[in-house]
Amino acid sequence: MNDGIAAEVTELVGDQADHWDRTGLIPVELLRKMSADGRLCAMVAQEHGGLGLSSAANGEFTAHVGSLCSSLRSVMTSQGMAAWAIQRLGDAEQRARLLAPLVNGELAAVGFSEAEAGSDVSAMSTVIRPDGDDVVIDGSKVWITAAHYADHLVIFGRWGEGGAAVVVPADAPGVTVERIPDPLGCRAAGHANIRLESVRVPAGQMLGGVSMPLSLLVTVVLAYGRMSVGWGCVGILRGCLSEAGAHARSRSQFGKPLGEHQLVGRHLAELLVSEQIATRACEHASRRWDDGEPDVVTATVLAKHVSAVQAAKGAASAVQVLASAGADNSHPVARAYRDAKLMEIIEGSNELCQVLLAEHVLSHS
Ligand SMILES: Cc1cc2nc3c(=O)[nH]c(=O)nc-3n(C[C@H](O)[C@H](O)[C@H](O)COP(=O)(O)OP(=O)(O)OC[C@H]3O[C@@H](n4cnc5c(N)ncnc54)[C@H](O)[C@@H]3O)c2cc1C
Repeated sequence: MNDGIAAEVTELVGDQADHWDRTGLIPVELLRKMSADGRLCAMVAQEHGGLGLSSAANGEFTAHVGSLCSSLRSVMTSQGMAAWAIQRLGDAEQRARLLAPLVNGELAAVGFSEAEAGSDVSAMSTVIRPDGDDVVIDGSKVWITAAHYADHLVIFGRWGEGGAAVVVPADAPGVTVERIPDPLGCRAAGHANIRLESVRVPAGQMLGGVSMPLSLLVTVVLAYGRMSVGWGCVGILRGCLSEAGAHARSRSQFGKPLGEHQLVGRHLAELLVSEQIATRACEHASRRWDDGEPDVVTATVLAKHVSAVQAAKGAASAVQVLASAGADNSHPVARAYRDAKLMEIIEGSNELCQVLLAEHVLSHS
């Protein structure tokens, strides 16, 4: 990771993560600055104005942001996923035209999920259809991270028997974005529901893939999201480790520091184990990604699943070590506890990851 970039983001976030969590908003100028500096989707190639980071370097940077503020990390994940969709599904002209705004101050979100299509994306009912030189989109999306801030929405839907993804300006006629007012965690990540009513955009906004099965299109794009969430969970664990370690050193009960009570020490040891397990799984997946290995898909699902489970467990341990100090909702470990739980739901819930990993076992043994 580039230490200079990390230090600048530390300074940008300062001590504001709790305030953002309470108000449910990150200042949009800060997000636009991070976009303009190429940091929200740092793997975009230099030829398109991006930083061109490897998956491993982007991962360490994502973990750093995740240790500071999971809401900001969530916005990064969405922007990175939108950029990845354009990169993987778009043609050369679209890559040049559509990636540039994402590293120049504009913001994006990605919509797969619908009220009746959560884990089962094949149940999507949003329809994208051709109409002359345009495409027309009808449908709705739920729980779309960063949609409240976004200038561009990458919307997935049915295209005849297959699937398609289309880049829609968030202010296009027929688009309605309604913020979710009170999420459990990542409260400033700009989650919103989206309605698309006869939304018309030029056909050039459609990211190829016309004959691809919808589930394959989604899988390609989710790979980035899973890697990013996995690394974000590493960040949650690092933040918890540092808070729990500092508290166990500085607070005494029964005449000695908490950390010297062996049962408290066990929580610290388990937290370290969680952080190391998650880090190693993410490092492995990012290496497979950077080396272009075909098993990257499974490695990424595994890394996301392991990291999410460890983050939820580790954040709970950190709250236990801090006890009443961590029971104050403004404490970083309280925020981590709420944020980490959501990591077990998004980008493939624990159960869906287990289904995918079981399928891998069955097809490889
Ligand atoms: C904070 C947050 C951010 C999100 N951001 C985005 C976003 O940016 N873009 C987007 O498109 N979506 C987003 N989502 C939606 C997210 O992808 C879905 O919530 C997720 O896919 C689960 O769908 P669901 O909530 O409808 O749960 P359901 O699909 O109804 O599942 C309910 C429970 O049943 C389990 N389950 C379902 N099917 C099976 C099965 N076959 N076997 C075993 N268990 C099963 C699930 O694991 C879960 O525990 C976000 C959600 C949240 C909470």
